[in-house]
Amino acid sequence: MPRRRTSTTFSVVVTAALLAAVVLLHPSAQMETVRGLIGLGRERLLPAPAIEARGGAYAFAATQPGSDEPVAWDPCSPVSYAVNPAEMPAGARPLVDRAIARISAATGLVFEDDGDTDRRPFTGSLVPLGGGRPVVIGWGDETEFPELAGSVAGLGGAAPEEGARGRRYYVTGGIALDTAALTDAAVAQQPRVVEAIVVHELAHVVGLAHVPEPMELMFADNTGQVELGPGDREGLARLGAVPCG
Ligand SMILES: [Zn+2]
Repeated sequence: MPRRRTSTTFSVVVTAALLAAVVLLHPSAQMETVRGLIGLGRERLLPAPAIEARGGAYAFAATQPGSDEPVAWDPCSPVSYAVNPAEMPAGARPLVDRAIARISAATGLVFEDDGDTDRRPFTGSLVPLGGGRPVVIGWGDETEFPELAGSVAGLGGAAPEEGARGRRYYVTGGIALDTAALTDAAVAQQPRVVEAIVVHELAHVVGLAHVPEPMELMFADNTGQVELGPGDREGLARLGAVPCG
């Protein structure tokens, strides 16, 4: 059917052109070329974490094309984040700050507070390449985030872009925390569990997926687990140990 074939060909060409534009226009790809020419390497902001295989279970949310290497954040740049305080339960902000410190320690990634924001999580993905777009951490319920229906207490994730030498890096992300589950009372009575839920969502943001192992914090359900498990720690260390972009 000639018409269909023409249509398909056009679609493929447009897609390829868009991908090429991303590769060519991405600022870090250009800067990498300049650095290569003048002989400067980039340095990590914090030392790479020690990777210890302790028999736990972990899984990456995404891997590089054609390899088992994880998609991760560039460890030579800070992970910028902004908290939307609307509907935040009383006493929750210190838990968020502690959760960020724990993920930073486990990955060797630096997190940079971009200040409070009125942006909502998981919106505004169509922004210019290289523009500032911090990870937005916010609070809401299933009327705004349908995935929060039922017993789901939080959502977390990140979006990658093609960076230097074809390697993909996360460049933005979001966390939505359920005000129906994480109430003022929950924060007051079970602060360590609420903090662990934030740690779990942050682990999604830096690149971990769920594992079917209840001793890991990346088990899909929180059954009172408050500490990172051995597989969580190994996976987070591997995510923090990728080459710089
Ligand atoms: Zn999860």
